[in-house]
Parts: sequence; C-alpha cells; structure tokens
Amino acid sequence: MSAAGALDARLRPQIQALRDRDLHRQRRVVDGSHGARIRVDGRDCVNFCANDYLGLAADPRLAEAARASLARDGTGSGAAALISGHNREHRALEEALADFLGAEAALLFSSGWAANLGALRALAGPDTHLCADALNHASLIDGVRLTKAPYARVTHADAAAFDAALGNAPDAAIAVTDGVFSMDGDVAPLPELAGVCARRGATLYVDDAHGFGVCGPDGRGSLAAAGLSHADVPVYVATLGKSLGASGAFVAGSRTLIDYLVQKARTWVFSTAPPPALSAAARAGLAVLRSEPERLAALHANIAHFRAGATERGIRLGPPDGAAGEHAIQPLLLGDAGRTMAASRALFERGYWVAGIRPPTVPAGTSRLRLTLSAAHTREQIEGVLDALHAVLAPQAEPA
Ligand SMILES: *Cc1c(COP(=O)(O)O)cnc(C)c1O
Repeated sequence: MSAAGALDARLRPQIQALRDRDLHRQRRVVDGSHGARIRVDGRDCVNFCANDYLGLAADPRLAEAARASLARDGTGSGAAALISGHNREHRALEEALADFLGAEAALLFSSGWAANLGALRALAGPDTHLCADALNHASLIDGVRLTKAPYARVTHADAAAFDAALGNAPDAAIAVTDGVFSMDGDVAPLPELAGVCARRGATLYVDDAHGFGVCGPDGRGSLAAAGLSHADVPVYVATLGKSLGASGAFVAGSRTLIDYLVQKARTWVFSTAPPPALSAAARAGLAVLRSEPERLAALHANIAHFRAGATERGIRLGPPDGAAGEHAIQPLLLGDAGRTMAASRALFERGYWVAGIRPPTVPAGTSRLRLTLSAAHTREQIEGVLDALHAVLAPQAEPA
C-alpha cells in the first residue's frame, strides 16, 4: 500500500462513522454572487443561511470599490503588515472602523479565526485565569486552549456564573464571550458581565461577529446596544465577512492594546496582510451601513415579520432553553441530526436554502435549522419560507 493509501485507510472508517450518525458534511456549489437569491448546485433558490445580514455581499458598490483597489493596488499585499504588507487601504479601513465604533484604534486580521487565536494567545499566558461561555464560537475555544491557561467553561449567558468563576482568580483574569451567539441567536448579558469584570478586576473580551453591523444604534454592535463603551470592554473583536459583506476581521480597543497586539499577536505578525482590495470592499460596506440606515431598519422589520409569521403558523422558534431573540439568527430546534438534515433537504426541494446545524457545532440532541434573515429578503420570500417550514414540519405535529 502506498503512503497515501495507508493514510486513507486510517481516515475512511472515521468518515464512515460520521455517515452512520447523520453527521457527514458536504458542500454545495454556488454559481455567481452570494445574495438572497442564489444559484446552488444548478438551481435557483432563496438563501436563508448566510450571515450577509445587510445584503452587502452582492452589492455592486463593494465590488466596484474592490475593482478600483485591484486596478490601483494589485492583488497581493506581498508580505506581513510589519514587513511591507501594510497598504493605505488597510490603514484607511482601520481608521474608519475605530471612528465608527468610538474606539481609539483597530487592527485588521485576515479572519475572525485568526483574530481570536492571535489576540487570546497574546493576552493570556499560563498564569492567566480564563473564563469562557460554554457556547462560545469554536475560534474562541481554540484560542483559549492555545493560551495553555487553566480555563473555566462557564454556564451559558450567566453573569453570576462568571462572577463565581472569576472569584477564585488571582490577578490577571479574562472573561471571554460572544456578543450574539452564532447558533442560538441570543445575546450575552454584557452590562452584567461588564459589572462583574469591573468588580473582579478582570478584562472583558467580546467577539461580536454577529452583532457588529446588526444591533445597537447605527449597527454599532452589542456594546452600543448594551450602553457600553470600549472603555468598559477592553477587547472587542468583529468580522468583516458577515454584515459588511467582505472578508477579514478586526480587534478594536485602546492604542496600547493595538500596539501590544502588533508586537505579540502571532497570527497577525507572521501572516501575509490581506489583499488591499478586500479592505476597500469592507470600507465601502461600512460607508453603506452609515449612509443607508434604512438597510438596518429593513433587516429588523424582516426579523419581526418572520417571527410574527412563525407564531401565526404555530412554528416554535428558539434555542434549547429559551425563547427566540430578536436577532437575525433564528434557530428552530429539532433535536435529532437525521431529522434536521431531512427537513433541510425538503426545504431545499421547495427552493429555500436553510442550513441544518448538527454536532459538533451544537451539543448532541440539539440539532436545529438555523435561519438567518437579511435586509435583502423580500416579504414574499419570508412568507414563502414560513409556508415551506410549515409544510415540511407539519407531519411531525400529527400523532404517529
Ligand atoms: C464567523 C465567526 C468567527 C470567524 O470569523 P471568520 O472571519 O469567518 O474566520 C469568529 N467568531 C464568531 C462568533 C463567528 O461567528
């Protein structure tokens, strides 16, 4: 057997084990842009699983900004930012983000994953006491593990549990949480967490990938929504590939924090700077967010319309232990992975692309459909997916 054959022989049973448990995953291929209407595996459907909350991913103004940058700046940045890769476009985006958020400074990373690994590893060492919400995003979990610090996995969205976990901490402690939880659509109790951290002398670290550009006044995110500032929450991470329709991520905070990360964040120091054109696209997205508040209003009207329509049809939305929130992420709990994927396939047959979410993304027994709303959805599309959900889920309500 060849070396590659030997490796395959070791991998194949693990793949089969996933198939046996309805946990095997596959990609569908999209032709063209990733808007609300989307062509998938050769058929047209309506997309209810993207994180493109403002409908900017397919906006021609972002593409035009990227095209202008490509013509001027070329494709590659050529090196890491500290060597020769830091372009005027990167700098302009960092300044625009800091200005929008009311933070002193911001630092661009090539992805949210890189931002969390880099920032956590830089800020925490083996002597740091870390407390992390049990439902944090996978990149926060891996970032926390990478620090080698002992860490407490704290009951989801429970400020008292954070308080108790921080109570035993020696000096340096960091509390890490999503702002809006990516699979549940609920929010962290940020005012309470900020209070707990202030009392315990701990640093609050918020990953707002799903809150930035979505909630709070002007879409400034979870801190603004909670009436908090960057003085209360020293480390704020958000991504550019979701509401802003581009790609990449950033950390926002004090000038000192950003200067420290420039020295220490390994996923930033040792990684090629992103293409300048992506920063140009993200900055164009930010400009649209600021100049067209009606987009944010349309998103929230669509969320409210979806929720009201679900209630009318007797469709129960929400995470395992709670009621559905008013966020663009609306989970519909089905429990079993096989049943969830069957429902997702049935919806696809009807022309609606709705992701089925299974372990290990969510805990076993909490598989779900995860619907995401966008400012770009029409009322007809929302009514359509609700009717399709009603039809696909209805048989389950009848006695066997
Ligand atoms: C999507 C996401 C990330 C990762 O960001 P990428 O830019 O896609 O790598 C990090 N944290 C949260 C909460 C996310 O939802």
